[in-house]
Amino acid sequence: MKTIGLIGGMSWESTVTYYTRINQLINEQLGGLHSAKILLASVDFDEIEKCQLANEWEKSGEILEKEAQKLEQAGADFLMICTNTMHKVVPQIEKNLSIPILHIADATIAELQQHGIKKVALLGTKYTMTQDFYKQKIIDSGIDVWIPNEDIERINQIIFEELCHGKILASSKAAFCQIIDKAIAEGAEGVILGCTEIGLLIQQADVSLPVFDTTEIHSQKAVLFALEK
Ligand code: GLU
Repeated sequence: MKTIGLIGGMSWESTVTYYTRINQLINEQLGGLHSAKILLASVDFDEIEKCQLANEWEKSGEILEKEAQKLEQAGADFLMICTNTMHKVVPQIEKNLSIPILHIADATIAELQQHGIKKVALLGTKYTMTQDFYKQKIIDSGIDVWIPNEDIERINQIIFEELCHGKILASSKAAFCQIIDKAIAEGAEGVILGCTEIGLLIQQADVSLPVFDTTEIHSQKAVLFALEK
């Protein structure tokens, strides 16, 4: 079994889900008392969020780069960045790394393709929804991306002011469901929960179209890769 290096803490609420799901999935595969080999570097999210707000992506990249190198030196065989948004700085992190990073968007695109999705709604932070680092990858794979233009700020606010604090509110769940209904009306065939905390609020049972939860998909890919011979 390979050792998985997790860069987490963004926010720690979703890192808990990663830790839990990866261990559960390893145990489903191997049984008995098996659990995952994980090295976790958990950052102070306040520092990262300040960089995001100040548009200092390179500075945030330097913080993650240091953590990535520590994990490599400690013996991680591959890395996972436990947030969609911070995949923006993957090219910077990869430069001085000899182990691979399992990209969350690549994992999600593979899943969308397997389900034959041609148009997908993307819900995430305002950075993920509006910038190209993530969206363009999906478009380049031949899938149309719908984003909730009128609700970008509302979604971003729910993520940073509620979900990242562990607050799960019925009113926000209703707001997400309404936004997803708009996406369906405009032809979306699936919805990407493109922020690692959204799965804490919305599950498959809440909506009528297929849900692609990036935390779950990323965790599943990690386990496949960790057990690959
Ligand atoms: N966990 C979130 C994501 O998947 C948001 C936190 C962040 O800005 O990194 O994008």
